[in-house]
Amino acid sequence: MKAAVLVRRGLLDLRQVPHPAPGPGEVLLKVRACGVCRTDLHIVDGELPPLRDSVIPGHQIVGEVANGDGAVARGTRVGVSWMGGADGSCLYCQRGMENLCNNPVFTGYSINGGYAEYTVARSDFVIPLPAAIDDLQAAPLLCAGIIGFRSLRVAGVQHGENVGLFGFGASAHLTIAVLRAWKCSVYVSTRGEQRRKLAQQLGAVWTGTEHEKPPVALDRAVTFAPSGDVVVAALSSLRKGGVVAINAIHLDRMPQFDYDRLLWGERQIRSVANMTRADAKDFLALASEIGIQPRVTVFPLDQANDALKTLRADTLEGAAVIVPGADK
Ligand SMILES: [Zn+2]
Ligand SMILES: [Zn+2]
Repeated sequence: MKAAVLVRRGLLDLRQVPHPAPGPGEVLLKVRACGVCRTDLHIVDGELPPLRDSVIPGHQIVGEVANGDGAVARGTRVGVSWMGGADGSCLYCQRGMENLCNNPVFTGYSINGGYAEYTVARSDFVIPLPAAIDDLQAAPLLCAGIIGFRSLRVAGVQHGENVGLFGFGASAHLTIAVLRAWKCSVYVSTRGEQRRKLAQQLGAVWTGTEHEKPPVALDRAVTFAPSGDVVVAALSSLRKGGVVAINAIHLDRMPQFDYDRLLWGERQIRSVANMTRADAKDFLALASEIGIQPRVTVFPLDQANDALKTLRADTLEGAAVIVPGADK
């Protein structure tokens, strides 16, 4: 089968590889679409250390079960996300925090992912997909969407609150739909006139550059840019008792900041790590109910490197999705 394989930092190699063979408790999936996530870029560019000699990235997979293990019927359309598995036995798994598992499996990082014609996944970690959401729309929901939703949970967002989004890429443009459904007022700070326009179209009550402060004290904020300066900007926009959730697996650095002025008053900074299967299920049900429509740009598998390039340059509005069937 054809796959985009990371063998050397910075570039994927398009090549023929053997078909993956599902083991016990796994399903073989024919990949229908695979979303491109910023984390893929961190893996390809080496900002996340390699866990194996070579890997096929991609962890927003919409696939069709090609050869089930009995647990999921052949032909079923399912999703696969970043959490490819957990041990089920560690302290965290036993306390309902499988996202923090001590022995996690990460799709497209510790095991092969979906930049390929086929992949395998643990049958107890595939996500049922609501029929109302088509392949292209489902793909970006599977990480960008779920993690954005988890960020709102981590930030403790309540209906009707003032919420700031710092950065406005693939994840934020899905998160704003949830916030609107929850009747929140959304304030978006981001660089790029186009991004600000998109945020306004999607219902932000205020938009500003990354240096501008929202005109109200925020109850909650979520940061999406891989930048510590942005986290501090978000922190400085919070009311007392407010929370910043950092939706980034990697930050350039965390700058020094003034505790007395910015964190005192029971403000909190929290990171958002991975997701649980419950987050995935709850978010996809909500996405189907409120009709979230991700903006998508399709890339054939042959152009996986170009898809990553658009993320590197931060030029894409919405989400990039790789479709193996779009080749030829
Ligand atoms: Zn565990
Ligand atoms: Zn991701």
